[in-house]
Amino acid sequence: MAKPKVAFYWCASCGGCEETVVDLAEDILKVVEAVDIALWPVALDFKLKDVETWQPGEVAVAFINGAVRLSEQHEWVRLLREKCPLVIAFGSCAHLGGIPGLANDTTREEILANKYHRSLTVDNPNRVEPRTACTVNGYELELPLFWKDVKPLDAVIDVDYYLPGCPPPTALVAQAVDAILKGALPPKGSVLAPEKSLCESCPLNETKPETLAIKEFKRVATSTPEPDRCYLAQGYVCMGPATRSGCGERCIHGNMPCRGCFGPTPGALDMGTKMLGALGTLGEADSDGTAMALAGTLADPIGTLYRFSLPASLLKRRCIEKEEAL
Ligand code: SF4
Ligand code: SF4
Repeated sequence: MAKPKVAFYWCASCGGCEETVVDLAEDILKVVEAVDIALWPVALDFKLKDVETWQPGEVAVAFINGAVRLSEQHEWVRLLREKCPLVIAFGSCAHLGGIPGLANDTTREEILANKYHRSLTVDNPNRVEPRTACTVNGYELELPLFWKDVKPLDAVIDVDYYLPGCPPPTALVAQAVDAILKGALPPKGSVLAPEKSLCESCPLNETKPETLAIKEFKRVATSTPEPDRCYLAQGYVCMGPATRSGCGERCIHGNMPCRGCFGPTPGALDMGTKMLGALGTLGEADSDGTAMALAGTLADPIGTLYRFSLPASLLKRRCIEKEEAL
């Protein structure tokens, strides 16, 4: 019997999610035994025209990592959606926008100005910037459009399942592949990870007091947490109360408060506001003045509370006065 075919594709990502597949180590042999890999640009050269020749349904599953910011990425994911019955948003960038999504805290113009004009290592006297079309030596050249903002995958195509994490742990990937092969997937739209918060599975949970009185927020950049005591109780913003479990508590074991890569807890509408609500009840402030002083110690609120989820949040992006088209 022919093996099912799967596709891996990447959009705006660092390549770390592709590493997860490689990190399956000898388990990758089991995957290769069970499926044929029809598309994997990180390892093998494929072009869009190769995918255009697929019959709809010929490739059973597309695992797509990375957020979407270029018109070219949009073209690829639309085509994969058209061809594959199952599309899985693979990793936090595809799931929620991820780290590339923090670019939504600024504008396209600022990004281009920094990259092409302000950087100390750039020499650009003609003030050249990327354009979607230009002519060089009589040849018409085309570049993808750099969109005004970063989008999670489900903002541009229909997504069947989400595999969270930055990157998704190999155990979750192996479980998902197994569930696909056995036809044992949960309802469409599910996040393929436990239905509980990270705090519930955290080994430091027993050291988390019922009530906290945070006087000042601390940062791992300027101090080192005690390894055996709940980080939140020490004043570090640990995103555990607002984050879905399933990562294997990787950061906690590395003496690092959770940054929230697994996305919001089940049912939470917005990760940042959920965490802000938790912090609001934990801070020690008895007046507007002390509350303001405490809030002032929370460095980079967007980068802390929405580190992986800004494009999928209620905020989505920084407001700008004049709304642009794509
Ligand atoms: S706040 Fe962080 S350290 Fe404390 S129990 Fe939750 S996940 Fe663990
Ligand atoms: S502890 Fe938090 S940031 Fe670290 S891997 Fe788990 S979910 Fe991601």
